[in-house]
Amino acid sequence: MAAVGVRDFHLGPISRRRMLAGLVGGSAGLLAGCSRREPLLPPTGEILAPNLAIGHRIRDGFRPRPSADAWQETDVVVIGGGISGLAAAWRLQRGGLERFLVLEMETVPGGTARSGQSSVTAYPWGAHYVPVPMRENRSLIAILKEMGVIGGLDAMDSPIVGEQFLCRDPGERVFLDGLWQEGLFPLDSASADDRAAMQAFRAETARWARWRDGKGRRAFAIPIATASDDAEVSGLDRVSMGEWMRLRGWNSPRLSWLVDYSCRDDYGSTIDETSAWAGLFYFVSRLRTPTDESQPVITWPEGNGRIVRHLADRVAGNLRCGLACVDLARREKDTSVEIVALDIGTQNVVGFRARHAVFAAPQFLAPYVIRDLPAERRRNAAEFEYSPWLVANVHLRERPEEFGFPLCWDNVFYDSRSLGYVTATHQAGNDYGPTVFTWYDALCDDPARVARQRLLDMTWNEAAEKVVRDLETAHPEIRSRVERLDVMKWGHAMVRPRIGFVWSPARRQASQPLGPIHFAGTDLSGVALCEEAVFHGVRAAEEVLRGLGRKVDSLI
Ligand SMILES: Cc1cc2nc3c(=O)[nH]c(=O)nc-3n(C[C@H](O)[C@H](O)[C@H](O)COP(=O)(O)OP(=O)(O)OC[C@H]3O[C@@H](n4cnc5c(N)ncnc54)[C@H](O)[C@@H]3O)c2cc1C
Repeated sequence: MAAVGVRDFHLGPISRRRMLAGLVGGSAGLLAGCSRREPLLPPTGEILAPNLAIGHRIRDGFRPRPSADAWQETDVVVIGGGISGLAAAWRLQRGGLERFLVLEMETVPGGTARSGQSSVTAYPWGAHYVPVPMRENRSLIAILKEMGVIGGLDAMDSPIVGEQFLCRDPGERVFLDGLWQEGLFPLDSASADDRAAMQAFRAETARWARWRDGKGRRAFAIPIATASDDAEVSGLDRVSMGEWMRLRGWNSPRLSWLVDYSCRDDYGSTIDETSAWAGLFYFVSRLRTPTDESQPVITWPEGNGRIVRHLADRVAGNLRCGLACVDLARREKDTSVEIVALDIGTQNVVGFRARHAVFAAPQFLAPYVIRDLPAERRRNAAEFEYSPWLVANVHLRERPEEFGFPLCWDNVFYDSRSLGYVTATHQAGNDYGPTVFTWYDALCDDPARVARQRLLDMTWNEAAEKVVRDLETAHPEIRSRVERLDVMKWGHAMVRPRIGFVWSPARRQASQPLGPIHFAGTDLSGVALCEEAVFHGVRAAEEVLRGLGRKVDSLI
């Protein structure tokens, strides 16, 4: 799971640190091959998953009515307390609104950016970093300023980020041929052809970073709404990233691996399913200038759970967790909305009448939750595909032995379809003792429906065994060091930017308001990113504020 970027394949000479690490690891790596299998895992841990029961009830037509005395009036109801819903709430509050509510069906806010806490460290359950935003990303900059992460802007209007929030060194390593190597591109054993292909790829990403359209817009920018819609760029959406690379004669296995890894990592889809637009967006949108390295990464032990906490604290008085919206209806010529929600704890049914609603839940739920959704919007929602992900938090009583380059924040296995793991204690500077590895797998090698069912059917034992076996690739003795292993089954984890989707009318129309119902959610951008979730939350809230007759000094 990585913040891979162009900096990962700088082709400079091998550093002394890397050379030493390689030498030290050489003999240890040989020893690793001789190690015997450790005893089986102790059966400690649990399965977490979004509330599937209520999701399936809504899908199957559950439409309860609240009693006459169970209705409340408010100005705005936000449905969903993930980053986009919380950002919408934050913007409403900043716009001076007091009468609004956020309904979140889980007992905790955050959605796919939620986090956990042990006696050792906090750890993420999903999203775990944001790259330092560029100046056009005004809404995220405003939030990070409020959090004290961004101190100000430099002469180029670029954010100045506190050192303690930038990912510590060493950031990334990859395991190949029995050894850890620095960075994500295994340079040490790369052939001349691999290196040449990397150079050519890098020149191409630099070309795109330099590119501007007639209106001065970048080809790939975050938020995507600020990027160019010129046909030269959007046309890249019609071909897969794999095909686009093959057309250029870039057949290097190392380069293909890096790009495929990046697509799986950021989108949960393979190089041959991801559109070339999305594949390039990943690399180019994080380059401030063609010669710069990728933007540095902002992270915390709990990942983007820190952003969730900040936003949730801000709107704590308006946040209602454990309330699942089961019905959202437009009333009386679109002048208001009626929202029915189920209290998951008490099973009571409650109703809200509001002037506006922000639907900040994923689009695939819209046809089930929004009553009388027009046929065109239903067809649009059906175009959104999501990849399922398995995430595990592996609590270790002590760290495994190391072979080669030392433990990093991000640790990736070249010969695995998993995305490796992130070390939760890394950012806190705890380099010894117990830790938590957050392990990720985007189950993208089967059709999403098949992979999702397999994920949902998976027992804790099966999931734990899959995780530990994968970790054993590089840490043969890890089984005996696992104290606890919890797994999260994300059925609809990430929207897939498959060929043709990002620039499809279906994707673009989905963020248009439907009378008093406004839409937020990262999936509206066709990619799953904190920045896009914040953008859509803030955009939707500004639509609402304008609808309520408030003056809006836009943050987007
Ligand atoms: C494993 C994983 C790793 C990721 N890593 C990163 C990363 O490192 N950096 C990054 O930027 N992004 C990452 N992402 C993407 C992440 O999804 C986005 O950054 C962002 O958090 C999405 O926020 P959202 O509000 O759009 O959607 P969600 O997180 O899906 O939030 C939607 C919320 O709506 C709630 N909800 C749904 N239905 C209802 C209902 N009927 N009633 C009430 N509430 C409802 C859900 O419970 C949920 O809390 C990752 C995602 C996953 C799955």
